[in-house]
Amino acid sequence: MLQASREVYSSLRRRFKGDLLRPGESGFEEARAIWNGMVARVPGLIARCADVGDVQNAVRAASEAGILTAVRCGGHSLAGFSTCDGGLVIDLSRMRQVTVDPEARRARFSGGCLLGSIDTATQKAGLVFPSGVVSHTGAAGLVLGGGTGWLTRQFGLSCDNVEGFTVVTADGSVVRADAQENPDLFWALRGGGGNFGVVTAFEVKLHPLTSVVLAEGLSPEAGIRPLLELWRDFMADAPIELKWNIDLRLAPHTEQVPVELRGQPVAASWLIWTGDMDDAQQYFRPALSLCDPESVRRRTLPFLELQTMADAAFPHGRRYYTKSGYFPSLGDSTIDRLVDAVSTIPSSETQIELAYLGGVAGRIGATETAFGDRSAPFIMNLLANWPEASDDSAHISWVRGLFNQLRPAMKPGVYVNFMSGDEQDRVPEAYHERWDRMVAVKSHYDPDNFFLLNQNISPGKTTAKNS
Ligand SMILES: Cc1cc2nc3c(=O)[nH]c(=O)nc-3n(C[C@H](O)[C@H](O)[C@H](O)COP(=O)(O)OP(=O)(O)OC[C@H]3O[C@@H](n4cnc5c(N)ncnc54)[C@H](O)[C@@H]3O)c2cc1C
Repeated sequence: MLQASREVYSSLRRRFKGDLLRPGESGFEEARAIWNGMVARVPGLIARCADVGDVQNAVRAASEAGILTAVRCGGHSLAGFSTCDGGLVIDLSRMRQVTVDPEARRARFSGGCLLGSIDTATQKAGLVFPSGVVSHTGAAGLVLGGGTGWLTRQFGLSCDNVEGFTVVTADGSVVRADAQENPDLFWALRGGGGNFGVVTAFEVKLHPLTSVVLAEGLSPEAGIRPLLELWRDFMADAPIELKWNIDLRLAPHTEQVPVELRGQPVAASWLIWTGDMDDAQQYFRPALSLCDPESVRRRTLPFLELQTMADAAFPHGRRYYTKSGYFPSLGDSTIDRLVDAVSTIPSSETQIELAYLGGVAGRIGATETAFGDRSAPFIMNLLANWPEASDDSAHISWVRGLFNQLRPAMKPGVYVNFMSGDEQDRVPEAYHERWDRMVAVKSHYDPDNFFLLNQNISPGKTTAKNS
């Protein structure tokens, strides 16, 4: 691999406009780090591209040298797919241009953008692109996998709002994918992750929105079961303007948390209302009725504040491990297991995240995009988050143990962006009835599986497993 990275370096050296970083050189150490501190790899070369031409040259040189290649936007892959040992990283962090057309309510952004750069640019025109909840997340990885966030119920998944992609494919050509041109690739890129090429530009729809109403509150341990029962029934008929997420966790030791709840198992409710401000209360009141009144807070929030309020809770460099799944319904025995699990949580930042999909995202048919089946509205993400390597096994085994207990009640399927690096066997499950079509598109655009470091679809294998 060392020889291959030398070959790529000498091939790119004279024509590359961006930066080529090798181990030992200034800037390499910072450039090699990704968000998940569990994944500390040392690539042989980081090619930080300045433009589409650099991406094409890097793909061609890597393909000729036969070097293992990772593609990086924001580096937030929980699985650590945006780095590798000894190979090449195609780093898009210099490609962060965003242009907004306020009249057409459209934007075009480059393949290295973080969510925050898009939000800042679109808000200048009073518009939003529906994306995720942490502004330092990369847009490319998030959108290509699907993209859920506060606005998913009202405006759909991020990938549902993409109208066109510009892609550098495995042979180094630049290809457009939209509803008319290369429609199969357009279909596959909306949920299929990094399997098909390096996306250098996204063209997306925007929606008018500048502020939301946020309500939050904590339910004590004894109130978790009734809260989950209320949430389950309430969300089935809730309007699309309401998003209600619940985190099961140990309450933080902060001033805002009532003293008797600090460090105790709680359910933290986060409600976002995007409709008419006067209508918020009629939904917030019943939803917050099971929270400790002292913990309840409501306020109107500028959109940019909403999009950054969780940033500090997920810092770069900590250790993270996750497992995720969908429930078609939240049965009493699943609720029992979730309630029991909160008291066994191994650390203060670890949490069970629960979201209810439905709304506009849930109305799109299972075969319309590669993201697929949106019919199971309850999404659960077990997210362990801790600082020290010595605590790895306690956290990983807690996540795995709880996941195995809950698994029988889940619907087959998983959101690829919430998968860990040890779950390749679940990729066919993620795409189940869409698997053969995904394989066909992969086989056409990347027959040698050059784009391997992702929730990978091997070209040429068409038998669905685990579906
Ligand atoms: C703190 C945090 C918060 C999150 N919040 C949300 C959320 O609210 N909603 C949600 O849906 N998900 C969320 N996620 C999951 C997130 O969607 C994935 O981790 C996603 O992969 C991150 O994208 P990235 O560009 O930062 O990742 P990277 O690590 O850079 O890349 C991830 C994958 O995408 C591929 N890729 C990256 N850029 C390109 C490109 N330009 N072209 C082709 N392939 C590319 C990579 O090769 C890799 O396989 C969150 C993750 C974190 C860490």
